[in-house]
Amino acid sequence: MEYPESFKSLIEAFARLPGVGYKSAERMAYSYLDLLPEYKEKFEHALSNVNKIKHCHTCFNLSDSEECEICKDKNRDASTICVVSNPKDVFAIEKTNTFSGKYHVLNGVISLKKGKLPQDLNIDSLLTRLDGVKEVIVATNPNLDGETTGLFIAKLLEGKDIKVTRLAYGLPMGGNIEYSDNITLAKSFENRKSF
Ligand SMILES: [Zn+2]
Repeated sequence: MEYPESFKSLIEAFARLPGVGYKSAERMAYSYLDLLPEYKEKFEHALSNVNKIKHCHTCFNLSDSEECEICKDKNRDASTICVVSNPKDVFAIEKTNTFSGKYHVLNGVISLKKGKLPQDLNIDSLLTRLDGVKEVIVATNPNLDGETTGLFIAKLLEGKDIKVTRLAYGLPMGGNIEYSDNITLAKSFENRKSF
């Protein structure tokens, strides 16, 4: 026997999430049915608000409005920009409480393997934000693509009188910023090195 159409489409919706296979989607659909009504309501409310999630028009971080909280914050040091590959890294770095500058989210990294080129990333927009900037910290993941991206940005900023630094890798090579513990990540910020 087949699942009812409504349940089937719930499974299919979950299965569309990247990294979720059919079996997991099926489990999630059953879990959803078992949710208490109040949580179901919260779930539906969150989903119906998904379309309100925007990308900040300055730094491309996730935001509820045109400009994110960090860009709006006048107390943050606008002379330092930390470049990351995706919004998850912003939230990971914010948790360490060691960085008080601004961010720029590239939306990926340069990857020859995945056919991702500099023009596919938010790099041009970074170049329009450099007035008064003294340091750009490249905080891409310590792997080949992350390094390539960092070097590319360092080259672009050459001769602009801006210090370009990268995180010191107490972060293990091949590691991942979002999974680093706060102390390791904080240390790699403190000990950052010039390109
Ligand atoms: Zn922003």
